[in-house]
Amino acid sequence: MKKLKPDHKGKAVYLSAPVNALVQGYYEQNTTIAEIKEHGDFGLGTFNDLDGEMVILDNIVYQVKDDGMAYPVGDDKETPFACLTFFTPDTVEEINGERLDVPLEELLNLLIPSANMLYAIRIDGEFKYIKTRSVPRQENYRPLVEVAREQPTFEYHEIKGTLGGFYTPQFMASLNVPGYHLHFMNEDRTRGGHMLECEFKEITVGLQHVPRLEVGLPLTIDYLTADLTEDTRRDLEEAEH
Ligand SMILES: [Zn+2]
Repeated sequence: MKKLKPDHKGKAVYLSAPVNALVQGYYEQNTTIAEIKEHGDFGLGTFNDLDGEMVILDNIVYQVKDDGMAYPVGDDKETPFACLTFFTPDTVEEINGERLDVPLEELLNLLIPSANMLYAIRIDGEFKYIKTRSVPRQENYRPLVEVAREQPTFEYHEIKGTLGGFYTPQFMASLNVPGYHLHFMNEDRTRGGHMLECEFKEITVGLQHVPRLEVGLPLTIDYLTADLTEDTRRDLEEAEH
């Protein structure tokens, strides 16, 4: 089943900061949840002091703490990095038949028409297996790749829920996590995290192409004086997969 709803002129994927600052350990910015919600009702990110994973679904912002439990958060919390858009899918497809046996990344590669476009992706349904991680609260300036080496991970079997996130072209790697970046929430929105592995059963995939990127540059002394000339792609690859 395919539904077409092609009207999001002017819509953008919004980043509250370039991801390379986060990768280098800049975990405190003065951007509030209220501010980022002006730019979307769907997305992901983290919180100041790298205090857990952020998942935004249906305009509710959740914080997944380092025990894997999720809590809705208020508008005054702050984030060093978040990525959002207003989600209105171009297509919603039920996955069945032979495509049920395809690994998730391959399936998404088949569904997205171009590797050079930004896409928002929402997957609802039942999963055979999901492995997630969350990040524990950190001191500022500790590189993300070091933190990620000690991340707590969580495994779920036969679980219903939602994956939400983005596809970003490789050439935008200093601004956003390149490739697929998906965060998970279970059906009753009590557990979740950054998706590391996934085997799906019955799912629908909502896809929205977004032909514009908007990047906020934080007005903090920390950000303004940071040395962001380093190529962080390798660290990002290790930290996010
Ligand atoms: Zn993530």
